[in-house]
Amino acid sequence: MVRGKRAILAFHGGQPVREMLLPYGRQWIDEDDLGAVLEVLRSGWITTGPKVAEFEEALAAYVGAKHAVSFSSGTAALHGAAFAAGIEPGDEAITTPMTFCATANCVLYQGAKPVFADICPDTLNIDPDEVARHITPRTKAIVPVDYAGHPADLDAILKLADRHGLVVIEDACHALGADYNGRQVGTVSHMTVFSFHPVKHITTGEGGMVTTDDAELTRRLQMFRNHGIDSDTHQRQADKQWYYRMVALGYNYRLTDIGCALGLSQLRRLDINLARRREIAQRYTAAFQGIPGLLPPAMRPDVNPAWHLYPIRLHLKKLRVGRTDVFRALRSENIGVNVHYIPVHLHPYYRERFGYQDGDYPVAEEAYERLISLPMFHGMSDQDVEDVIQAVGKVVKYYAI
Ligand SMILES: *Cc1c(COP(=O)(O)O)cnc(C)c1O
Repeated sequence: MVRGKRAILAFHGGQPVREMLLPYGRQWIDEDDLGAVLEVLRSGWITTGPKVAEFEEALAAYVGAKHAVSFSSGTAALHGAAFAAGIEPGDEAITTPMTFCATANCVLYQGAKPVFADICPDTLNIDPDEVARHITPRTKAIVPVDYAGHPADLDAILKLADRHGLVVIEDACHALGADYNGRQVGTVSHMTVFSFHPVKHITTGEGGMVTTDDAELTRRLQMFRNHGIDSDTHQRQADKQWYYRMVALGYNYRLTDIGCALGLSQLRRLDINLARRREIAQRYTAAFQGIPGLLPPAMRPDVNPAWHLYPIRLHLKKLRVGRTDVFRALRSENIGVNVHYIPVHLHPYYRERFGYQDGDYPVAEEAYERLISLPMFHGMSDQDVEDVIQAVGKVVKYYAI
């Protein structure tokens, strides 16, 4: 790029910053992972064998929780947590509009109503004051999301939950390995939900986990992911070996031994993955400090985010174009930017079913208009990171007023 002169955007036929598209997130699989999966395939146990319990114990130990229950996806884990919390038809659960739709859908799966509460303008996490405004006698649970890997305002949320007798289901699908006020995410809320989708910090292909310190919640989670079958019966009725009892309507949400072997192998590298993501975030934030057209993500004191995403916000008043043009220009430079998230209440299903409209959650909607997620994954090379920084500088400076 020529100093002092505006480079020709790839969008306008110029040379792109890189030849190959850099995705916004991607898994990292090494030889140890391949070996672990092969070993399971050769072992004779490919689902619900020893690796499931081993992975659950290892993940519980990693976050410092008493119990961990695995599920076939993060979404299934959210559904299990909604069931374990006792969410039923007629109930409400309060969640954030700034999330993937699965967070709110798990409440619908239980026949209850998700109620949105607007977000804090700095972290884009659910605002505890807004949660308080939406609590009614029907409220059963609060479902905060640790957006981008930055823990939500959990102490304030737990205080509200305590006062009103509510369950806190923390959607920490972005936040495996994050710290909150000296505590590890996974030990703070009544239940914490993780995802092992390939773009997350560690992967099992598809997979999820709920951590909790509560033995009764653990029992309900285990039952729910196995058709509602009460597993204790096996021990109690050891003499009648065929006997089992289905005591609730559950699902087959089990994670396989194949997935758990991969997860165990991946978990050994989680600290390395986290360190790399934190390094990339630091490099980005330092580089973007001087660019007036954009706002890097906020970081509150006493929090160590896990950096699932690196979402920047554009200062639209300082740019000649809107988010869509900046997004397209970055894609043309072969930077695989994304948008997280379209506020959930604005999806057609939610609008049609609940009558949500533009303007219902102004902070989330204003943020959405300005958001762009930059590539962020632990397998990024230094050159990848520099390419992103160069492309963002090129595009934002080109459109600056
Ligand atoms: C990834 C994700 C989920 C769902 O996880 P899956 O494993 O893909 O089902 C739920 N909530 C949030 C915030 C996520 O990022």
